Amino acid sequence: MTDPAPTLSNTAAVRAILSRHGLAPSKDRGQNFLVDPRVAESLVDLAGVVSDDSVIEIGTGLGILSRALAARAERVLTLEIDAGLVRALGEEALLPENVTLRHQDALDVSWPALVRESGATRVVANLPYAVSAPLLRRLLDLAGALRDWSVMIQRDVADRLLAEPGSRDYSSLTVLHRLCVVPRREREIASGDFHPVPGVRSSFVRMRPVAAPPSPDELARIERVVRAAFGQRRKTLANALRGAGFAAAASACERAGIDPRTRAEQLPPEAFVALSRAFEAIGAAP
Ligand code: SAM
Repeated sequence: MTDPAPTLSNTAAVRAILSRHGLAPSKDRGQNFLVDPRVAESLVDLAGVVSDDSVIEIGTGLGILSRALAARAERVLTLEIDAGLVRALGEEALLPENVTLRHQDALDVSWPALVRESGATRVVANLPYAVSAPLLRRLLDLAGALRDWSVMIQRDVADRLLAEPGSRDYSSLTVLHRLCVVPRREREIASGDFHPVPGVRSSFVRMRPVAAPPSPDELARIERVVRAAFGQRRKTLANALRGAGFAAAASACERAGIDPRTRAEQLPPEAFVALSRAFEAIGAAP
């Protein structure tokens, strides 16, 4: 016998909890809750969570992923911005004992300190899509500190993470990620696995840090160059950089061995490291 339509009944359960607490899913907060515990369990598998892991989750929601993580990991620290959800999670006793819930804006936390203090080994999250870009950026600074991290994101954001130089999707997000991690799309998730059903498709992506990721300080320097270079994609590299205040663009390109007439999207990620170091070496970083 196959299981009876679990998604439907779980959607009803999610609705019922929200309504008991007078809550409605907020679009601005990216509240598309997973409804099927088996999907949550498969994400924990794909994230490679093991019994000695200490996991940080961003966005607790109603705790479906927190519970699946807690069944596998030693402990889970989960951050939720929404006071109504935090209250509902407590009143409904939705979280097991090895889960610590913090009412916290994940954009407003010192991530290196949080990882250090909690002893976290991994981050696993069904990210709020409205703020996935800044959250993904913060996670990059943890490449030297975590085993890896796995996130549910919009499928087109996943496409950008996986894009190759010269392709339409190759962007500043791609370059910064590929300098720090090897991203792998582990699974596509059907829209019907969420309540409410999101208007975009979703991918679950695991990011494994490269052997020697740039330090957070170096990554910040590289990021300034990358954002300037991609800021005006139609311009040549040197013109885009000059337009963004990098006056010595031509000299830096020459020093880095890069043709100043090329365009940002043609350059492999390592070229931006060379360019950033060239600006530093000639004392011309703005
Ligand atoms: N983990 C749950 C699940 O899989 O069903 C919920 C995921 S839902 C896509 C995203 C969650 O992140 C929501 O509960 C939302 O309130 C929360 N959230 C949104 N912005 C946040 C932020 N800046 N910091 C922490 N949590 C946030």
